[in-house]
Amino acid sequence: MNILVLNSGSSSLKFQMIATDMERIRGDADERLLRGEVERIGGEAIVTVQKSDGLKEKLTASLRDIPAALDFVIRWVASDRSGITQVRSVADIHAIGHRVVHGGEQFTESAIITDEVLKGIESCIDLAPLHNPNNIKGILAVRDVFGPKMPQVAVFDTAFHHALPEQAYLYAIPYHLYLRYRIRRYGFHGTSYRYVAYRYRLLRNFTRPQTNIVALHLGNGCSAAAIRGGYSFDTSMGMTPLEGLVMGTRSGDVDPAILSYIAVKEGLSLNEVETLLNKQSGLLGISGLTNDMRVLQGELADHDDRRARLAIEIFCHRARKYIGAFLAAMGGADAIVFTGGIGENSSTIRARICEGFAWAGLSLDEDKNKKAVGQEGIISAEGCRLAAYVIPTDEELLIARDTVRCILGEPHPT
Ligand code: ADP
Repeated sequence: MNILVLNSGSSSLKFQMIATDMERIRGDADERLLRGEVERIGGEAIVTVQKSDGLKEKLTASLRDIPAALDFVIRWVASDRSGITQVRSVADIHAIGHRVVHGGEQFTESAIITDEVLKGIESCIDLAPLHNPNNIKGILAVRDVFGPKMPQVAVFDTAFHHALPEQAYLYAIPYHLYLRYRIRRYGFHGTSYRYVAYRYRLLRNFTRPQTNIVALHLGNGCSAAAIRGGYSFDTSMGMTPLEGLVMGTRSGDVDPAILSYIAVKEGLSLNEVETLLNKQSGLLGISGLTNDMRVLQGELADHDDRRARLAIEIFCHRARKYIGAFLAAMGGADAIVFTGGIGENSSTIRARICEGFAWAGLSLDEDKNKKAVGQEGIISAEGCRLAAYVIPTDEELLIARDTVRCILGEPHPT
């Protein structure tokens, strides 16, 4: 089956076409036909596509909304220009898998999108006002462009964390606020954690119950997850993705009393303070330069920029704190797993984060760590009690596989 995987944002649409079915899933032989992104939807949009041979193409088109962008993409894919022999017409696209950010307490696994499921996703808008409305737009765009018969599946960022125990997901605020408004920790990056936990099992030839790791997803958004016995046991992001680690533009943990203090001192509304913590904080806020770790490391190397150094130090310190806390909370783990743009590519950040874990039985193999750039592998020295791995994430692959499994009624454990 040719599955189109969609991730729709406020003015962007990321897409991948993946050929997969039960046999290919079992043989780990799925085929990625192309990936791409439409940016600046609403005006003169930029469409970037990368085919399986690695060749990139950049196009521009006037695309007023997400349905127009989707229509443009699928017609391009089906045209001779794309060179994708598996998709000769729109009818060769068999199902659509969507990344949906928030599934609340209702969605504990991926689901075929029916009217009822759509209503459920709508009911989570309150919890993810920045994300779910865009995901819904993507779903409606598919109905618009392909018609109501096209099978669609929603894969939720929160679903993997449905196993969190109460002591991890409840905040210590009056309990009735949880009952009234479902204020609790949901956790995010769940599809990524599910994927890296699965790859880790394969790498070590472990079963799910043998999987005890602290995983760090370090990209623009950053989070940590304690995965015990193959399930999510604790995670750093909370009711929204703002809590936890230092991120590109998000502060992560702060004393909540700071919010009203900033509001009063700066004459801002609470909403504006939340925006400040979401968009102007993190690496960007501390460095005053950029939210981009690679650029920050460049500034440090070229100009010995003091605040770039500070931003990186705070970033690594927070990550170390979470690893230590999770190791304690889960009663130890066998490995730390790095993923996400920073986790997969920056050996120096990995080394800084892993500093000082000798007490837990971890020492990095410098050579292996340096070589593991964007590729899967162990980076700790042989025989460590606590190992370390780099496992590039592939959320889209998991979304494509879940789409197939949901449609065929096959189990797809989160
Ligand atoms: P997103 O969370 O948007 O999917 P990514 O997972 O692609 O983002 O991560 C983006 C981050 O990864 C950026 O901060 C970028 O600088 C960082 N990054 C990518 N490659 C490197 C590298 N070689 N060294 C350091 N940071 C890197």
